[in-house]
Amino acid sequence: MVISNEQMTTEDEKLQKMRHSAAHVMAEAVLSIFQDAKFGIGPAIENGFYYDFELPRSLDPDDFPLVEKKMAEIIASNTPFVKEEVDKKEARRLFANQPYKLELIDEIPDEKVNLFRQGSFVDLCRGPHVGSTGEIGAFKLISIAGAYWRGDEHRPMLQRIYGVAFDTQKALTKHLKELEDAAKRDHRKLGRELDLFSIHEEAGPGLVHWHPKGAAIRRVIEDFWKDEHIKRGYDIVYTPHIAKLDLWRTSGHWEFYRDYLYAPMEVEGQEYIVKPMNCLGHILMYKTRLRSYRELPVRYAELGTVYRYERSGVLHGLSRVRGFTQDDAHIFCRFDQLEDEVVGVLELALFMVDTFGFTDYQMLLSTRPEKYAGTIQVWEEATKTLSQALARLKLDYDVDPGEGVFYGPKIDIKFRDTLGRGWQGPTIQVDFNLPQRFNVTYVGEDGQEHLIVMVHRTVLGSMERFLASLIEHYGGAFPVWIAPVQVTVIPIADRNLDYAYKVETELKKEGVRIKVDARSERVNLKIRQAQLDKIPYMLVVGDKEVALSTVSVRLRSGEQVSSLPLVDFKETLRRVIVNKIKDLKL
Ligand SMILES: [Zn+2]
Ligand SMILES: [Zn+2]
Repeated sequence: MVISNEQMTTEDEKLQKMRHSAAHVMAEAVLSIFQDAKFGIGPAIENGFYYDFELPRSLDPDDFPLVEKKMAEIIASNTPFVKEEVDKKEARRLFANQPYKLELIDEIPDEKVNLFRQGSFVDLCRGPHVGSTGEIGAFKLISIAGAYWRGDEHRPMLQRIYGVAFDTQKALTKHLKELEDAAKRDHRKLGRELDLFSIHEEAGPGLVHWHPKGAAIRRVIEDFWKDEHIKRGYDIVYTPHIAKLDLWRTSGHWEFYRDYLYAPMEVEGQEYIVKPMNCLGHILMYKTRLRSYRELPVRYAELGTVYRYERSGVLHGLSRVRGFTQDDAHIFCRFDQLEDEVVGVLELALFMVDTFGFTDYQMLLSTRPEKYAGTIQVWEEATKTLSQALARLKLDYDVDPGEGVFYGPKIDIKFRDTLGRGWQGPTIQVDFNLPQRFNVTYVGEDGQEHLIVMVHRTVLGSMERFLASLIEHYGGAFPVWIAPVQVTVIPIADRNLDYAYKVETELKKEGVRIKVDARSERVNLKIRQAQLDKIPYMLVVGDKEVALSTVSVRLRSGEQVSSLPLVDFKETLRRVIVNKIKDLKL
């Protein structure tokens, strides 16, 4: 969830203060154990806090109880946090043994430096804090991770200890339970266990390899995506993965986003880059001929793979990567068509997100930032158009003032998963910049050329991040229509194998993703394996099933459904898949 300062409640502020104060207490506790500890920074974060330390040895969670015990003592002592203001010279003397603090002091523009002291412990800090350590509620240290000083991989790697803190023990316990649930659903863990994808140090971090089962899910998503787009008047297109650097100079990306672009490669004396976005290819295609106002809007949709540089330290499974496939589209329209187009995108976006099972979402309308392309007037009209589109669909939304991108206002939709965590979903951005830079026009009713209004939009974000959200939302137990393997056939004895293959062949003809577990293992073990693989349906077939042309159905929940004729199962399964029914019960 995006929380702008205005929206932050006093309750949130109180918790933030308390969490940040807990970071100071943790630093004091760590210093009491390691007298040589060097300190980085220690901010409050969502649900808790962290502090970065340089320590004489690597810590692990076994060290937490001792740190927590010291923290508890400091909290019990109810020592006040006292603010002090000193000049830089005094601050440098106080932190003479703290190289990271000295670096921070050097960057403070004022001559005066704020310190906070609790007991004998002093930290460089602006505050605010709670009045005294006793006001810190229930806390727990939860993890430790390497973190480069200032996120820069050329600087030393520090040890970052994460903690969580809440007003009450009850709230902390609830949160720890949620963390436990989330860990079980971690897409990196499930991705490995369910054999969906892998990322290889040998190939490079942040580059995803989709295994057959992950690829099966992706194909379901892509097919559904393409069908829905075609139904709603989009044309599906493809554009190349590399393009001349000059194109990105014209667009301004080379100037503004260079940090995210990979270095150019030379081809026949010309510089090329791998594309960081799909927009420019679509613009070139639009511009291949004069466009009349009558043929607008033009809607180009592409599942376009793009590459952007992200620091290795921030990469995270499928949700933060270096190469990803955006479900992208660009709409070229007249200004008077903008509202209808935005309504169309919102309807499509919500339909898709809802079909995948995310029914809880939040909308945000971001308005003009300080630096912007285009005129104030056109910004205001476009922003008004976006809010009218939201109003037409009776959608509630929050306004995030000044948070639009420089080229136009936008609508973001965040959806929530089963655990209530937010995922970045659909985005709709109006663009006043690129049409101007590339002179993208249409011929109006008046016979004159007019600048087009361009809309960038994505519905799912990227295939990678969306798969991460699906895995965690369902804990890997996907609805039947999405499941990479929908049915497994388990023969009771080897003599039932022929029938098992016959069942497989019949259902495969219907497009069902099915496999026979032909291993010579006990039936119970095969059932257990299918449950671990979270396969929706198991068809157990023995002599009786062979004789009667039936199947004995088990659900992955362990529930046993009575035997039914194979033809009936086939028909019911078809209905479940076509209608994208989430309940497995037949
Ligand atoms: Zn502080
Ligand atoms: Zn775009």
